[in-house]
Amino acid sequence: MESIKAPRGVRDILPEESWKWAFVLDVARRTAEDFGYAEVHLPVFEHTELFSRGIGETTDVVEKEMYTFQDRAERSLTLRPEATASMVRSYLEHGMHRGVQPVKLWCAGPMFRYERPQKGRYRQFWQLDVEAIGASDPFVDVEIVALSLELYRRLGLSNLEVKINSVGCPECRPTYRKTLRSFLEPRLSELCDTCRGRFDRNPLRILDCKNPQCAAIAEQSPSVVESLCGECGTHFGLLQRGLEEIGASFSLDKRLVRGLDYYTKTAYEVLSGDLGSQNAVCGGGRYDNLAEAIGGPHVPGVGFASGIERIVLTMEQQGCFTGSAPHPAVFVVCPDEEARPEAFALLHLLRQSGVSADMDFTGKGMKAQLKVAAGKGALLACILGSEELRASRMAVKDLESGEQHLYAREEGVASIRSLLSNKGISRKDG
Ligand code: AMP
Repeated sequence: MESIKAPRGVRDILPEESWKWAFVLDVARRTAEDFGYAEVHLPVFEHTELFSRGIGETTDVVEKEMYTFQDRAERSLTLRPEATASMVRSYLEHGMHRGVQPVKLWCAGPMFRYERPQKGRYRQFWQLDVEAIGASDPFVDVEIVALSLELYRRLGLSNLEVKINSVGCPECRPTYRKTLRSFLEPRLSELCDTCRGRFDRNPLRILDCKNPQCAAIAEQSPSVVESLCGECGTHFGLLQRGLEEIGASFSLDKRLVRGLDYYTKTAYEVLSGDLGSQNAVCGGGRYDNLAEAIGGPHVPGVGFASGIERIVLTMEQQGCFTGSAPHPAVFVVCPDEEARPEAFALLHLLRQSGVSADMDFTGKGMKAQLKVAAGKGALLACILGSEELRASRMAVKDLESGEQHLYAREEGVASIRSLLSNKGISRKDG
């Protein structure tokens, strides 16, 4: 029987890579905290309706990409394809709209979309999701863009491009929709089948079609910015002013749209010049009518989602990682069976005192154990066999210089700690 493999489009994040994820998530956590955003953990599945109403029935995500299933009580549930709808659901469900606004939250975790897998596009992928709910001030939009850029700066990313647009609001979008339809109508036969279908239902979505012929037509189309109402125009102006004030470079992209009514005003994207076709590192924007769409009161909000796989890929491409996977500082080497209980006790003592330590559990000989120690990247080997036990000593070998010294057993842990601190390794905790 063939052994079972992981499903298509999902990945195991193995130790060679998982430390990079831990680094990215750690920097993300600190950046979010510095901007006043608090962490939440949200469920991985929700009622299907939350997403069909909160993302939109006519989006690719809802039409084609959701992992939807019935539970044993025949409720329709869906593995979350994104986190914004869940975040707003949680905000409303826990009455956060009654407290101080905006409520600033972030979360990170896996999202699920049935997409065609390729480099940088998976069926289970992680997103960092940051949302400010309950304020319509354009400087909250500036803050959201600034937070994403500050995160990438701290991670050492370069060669990024920020694109922004305004998609207006239900006041001004109908005018734009009309303008766009009149522009597209004489060119309908040149559009792809999907876009011809979008013409009646949701013409704005034609603007971000990847088909080269549709893209060329979209390039010629009138810009939504020219149709903005006074309020949306002022908001967009202040967003740009704010970004200029913090020294963020950006360009306007009239094809950056989210064609649904609850996406309002700001839309933005951060693209990496080092990612190939799946080059969006981050996408975000304002959704002032989303809370209503999922059955709540009117609550404005703005946020972004950034793909962790794509951040890690870009950082690898750009050589941003300088650390390495964690390795034990000390390897306890025990060449004799009868000394193993004492050797294990020493290992435990080291760990309790905050020194990362490991040993062999497969009955290898002394030489082989030292080889494993070096292979695991340990700095010191602590040798405790029956000979050392009888003499109440232990030998400590510096695996970098090859030097070896004997220490009294009861001073062993303290000696190791001071040897490590001479090497610039300090105790992790405790
Ligand atoms: P979206 O929710 O589609 O605006 O996506 C936000 C961000 O999530 C994108 O900019 C990507 O970084 C990431 N992302 C979206 N879909 C995928 C996917 N299938 N695989 C990996 N990352 C993704």
